[in-house]
Amino acid sequence: MTVHDLPRLSLIVPCCNEAEVLSTTHARLLSVLESTGKTWEILYIDDGSHDRTWVLIGSFAAPDPRIRGLRLSRNFGHQRAVSAGLDAARGQVVVIIDADLQDPPELIPAMLDRWRQGADVVYGQRRTRAGETGFKIATARLFYRFLDRLSDVRIPLDTGDFRLMDRTVVEAVKAMPERDRFLRGMVAWAGFAQEALPYDRDSRAAGVTKYPLSRMIAFAADALFSFSVIPLRFATWMGFATSGLAALLIVYALAMRVVVNHWVEGWTLLIIAVSFFGGVQLICLGIIGEYLGRTYHEAKRRPLYVVRADTAQPSPSPRSER
Ligand code: UDP
Ligand code: MG
Repeated sequence: MTVHDLPRLSLIVPCCNEAEVLSTTHARLLSVLESTGKTWEILYIDDGSHDRTWVLIGSFAAPDPRIRGLRLSRNFGHQRAVSAGLDAARGQVVVIIDADLQDPPELIPAMLDRWRQGADVVYGQRRTRAGETGFKIATARLFYRFLDRLSDVRIPLDTGDFRLMDRTVVEAVKAMPERDRFLRGMVAWAGFAQEALPYDRDSRAAGVTKYPLSRMIAFAADALFSFSVIPLRFATWMGFATSGLAALLIVYALAMRVVVNHWVEGWTLLIIAVSFFGGVQLICLGIIGEYLGRTYHEAKRRPLYVVRADTAQPSPSPRSER
């Protein structure tokens, strides 16, 4: 295969139990891609779905070699599913898009225009978010601003993974071996010319969100602990603060003794002080533990994901025939 046979544009679509929406998504993607006038491929990554997602992907891929499906051996999570897509993508330019049509595919031609004019990364920036709870919108806003304060990397505010990347950026991201993958931060870290494309986020076309609160918290923790070491300094700050407090209390106790000849009595005070310091120390240990646990996962160097099936590879003969 020569470089001319490679598609210009690769579209990566991570899917976890998206059977309800996938046919609609596929039709919309096809009509947008045909309008770009480029050669293209679509990579559907089935991230351990339990519904008919893989069957649908197979039916899209069978008649058209430009469509490829990868089935992961279990649910590895959205960020790793996208990483699998980045590893498989062959295009000179790559676009990541959710399967649920919350990110309008009709924006892709505008992204390509920006790319042609020299941008290496064009990320969709959410102007509004339809169909999401006030709680999700508020916590997401707060989180992006908090992370921006704590991290050295300028991660663009209010963005998701809907973005276009030039091949050079894709190679830079692929060269990052970390297990905790916060892709939008990793792309920001890579640098190059990055531009925002504001858009209004639609509500899900069908199906339910795969990011309940517990997963949102885990995702936020990944972002924080992989992009900032400032929480580790919390121990130092609390150390100074509590030592300062203790010094003040000593001065107070001495003054009471010398000036009014009164011994500060202190069973209650003692218990409060002991539990306070105990609490602070445990929190600091917990923070160190978070970093240690992540270092442990990195040290094991397990692969990011395991592929169970690939529509581009002939499937092995059924077991009954072996
Ligand atoms: N997704 C995935 N694996 C997961 C969770 C989600 O591949 O473990 C996919 C999902 O199918 C969708 C995208 O990631 O294409 C974003 O997920 P979702 O729409 O549920 O998140 P939300 O938009 O509600 O934050
Ligand atoms: Mg969604």
